[in-house]
Amino acid sequence: MPTRVRLTLTVAVALSAALAALSISLWLSRRAYVYRDLSRYAAAQATLAARAIQEGAEAGDTLTEEPLLGSGGKLSPRVLAPRLWRILEAIPDYLIVVDRDSSVVYMSEALRRLDFDDRTAIVNALAEIPDDGPAALLDVDGGVLLVARGVQGPSVVLKRVIAGVHAGGAIEAPREYIITVFFLFPLILGGALTAAWVFLGKPFDQLNRITDEVAAITDGRSLHRRLAVDDSRAELSDLVATLNAMIDRLEQSFLGLRRFTADASHELKTPLTVLRADVERAMSDGTSKSERLVALEEALHESARMADLVETLLTLARADEGRFDLHLEPVALAPLLRDVYETALILGETAGVEVQLPFTADAVVMGDAPRLRQLFLNLVTNAIKYTQAGGRVDIGLGRHPDHVAFVVRDTGIGIAAADIPYVFDRFWRADRVRSRTIARTRDGEGGGGGSGLGLAISQWIAHAHGGALAVTSRLGKGSLFTVTLPLAADQPAESFIEP
Ligand code: ADP
Repeated sequence: MPTRVRLTLTVAVALSAALAALSISLWLSRRAYVYRDLSRYAAAQATLAARAIQEGAEAGDTLTEEPLLGSGGKLSPRVLAPRLWRILEAIPDYLIVVDRDSSVVYMSEALRRLDFDDRTAIVNALAEIPDDGPAALLDVDGGVLLVARGVQGPSVVLKRVIAGVHAGGAIEAPREYIITVFFLFPLILGGALTAAWVFLGKPFDQLNRITDEVAAITDGRSLHRRLAVDDSRAELSDLVATLNAMIDRLEQSFLGLRRFTADASHELKTPLTVLRADVERAMSDGTSKSERLVALEEALHESARMADLVETLLTLARADEGRFDLHLEPVALAPLLRDVYETALILGETAGVEVQLPFTADAVVMGDAPRLRQLFLNLVTNAIKYTQAGGRVDIGLGRHPDHVAFVVRDTGIGIAAADIPYVFDRFWRADRVRSRTIARTRDGEGGGGGSGLGLAISQWIAHAHGGALAVTSRLGKGSLFTVTLPLAADQPAESFIEP
């Protein structure tokens, strides 16, 4: 069922429930109100009659007590004195006067007109109605409210007066009420539903249009397009802005993915071509034994490079998924740094670059030792790789109150300011041809090995340890890479270590 229909139906159900609840509560409160009014009215009638009887009694006007011989010689019942009778006849509603023997001595005309059964039912119920108590409702003649009042005075033979009113009006719903409920409420409901349907129309039209636009954009080829932001969809401007931001991110990650796939294929294609050529050369009949060995050695080297590259790509892919294969334990950085420094000395010597460790500190971090070694070595090999012979590379470890900083400074080729934002991007190299040539001649341990992945993986390692990797550089002057790592809780006493 379409959402617009569902929402309109929900409004219909909610409104009907509200109207029904309103009708019932209106009806109940009106009923209570009328009931109270009628009770008061009946009580006033009873009090009035009781007073009239009392005054009559004081004037000696109560009952005609002499037994009268009626037709057939039967004893007629006692009746009210004529003067009192006339006074009470002025009361238009139900009125009963009972004497001290609980015999009914007077019934008003309204009662006398009732049919025999109803009248008997009322008379039989009299004993149940307490004097000066609340009104009682009898289910007679559509509902009768009765109130009893005692007649005061010691010499009075008349004991109680019971006044009543027809209470059908309190129980039955009046015409106006029925008209309201059965005609006006459906009108209100119809009006509200029409309004809801019309009101929901615009946003739903807009939503449908946005859905169509998003479907057209996300078909994969139109990610450069954006949803239009105009006044006609002002209410949905937040949604449109959020969707546009999402499409933005989608476009970025699609582009990144495409670039990454293209770069990865390209990086793998080159060693594969070299590998193939080497193998072909080794297999060729005209190749001498020594040439064959050289070709196979190169093939081995290329396959090792490819294995490195694939390993790095896998690590990055796992990192992207959040699956870090890190085994954190307390790692003392000073020995790790010394180890890296010794490797750097050998690499530096080959490249004609002087490597120095001017300062180091004792510090323990929670980390994965092989990964931290890979991170430090990546930076140090890069520094040596991108520094001309005769240059210098300084390595240092500084301890701060809550973190430790590992720094690598070189006097190499540097990075242009415009390139700095991209250095940590995957496969990014300032100059592909030059980087690759240098990498091929000076390939050492560590990440990408001239493929532009080394800094990306280094940054991931730093982040995975809760740290950061930053760079400052000047083209032609040199670069400074800084790794900051949070210190572990248990630290050795602060000491400066002579390298
Ligand atoms: P690569 O394997 O190409 O060295 P990296 O990710 O380690 O890949 O480095 C990316 C690029 O950043 C390098 O190709 C190089 O252009 C630049 N770069 C990295 N370190 C330095 C440095 N110390 N001095 C100058 N350029 C550097």
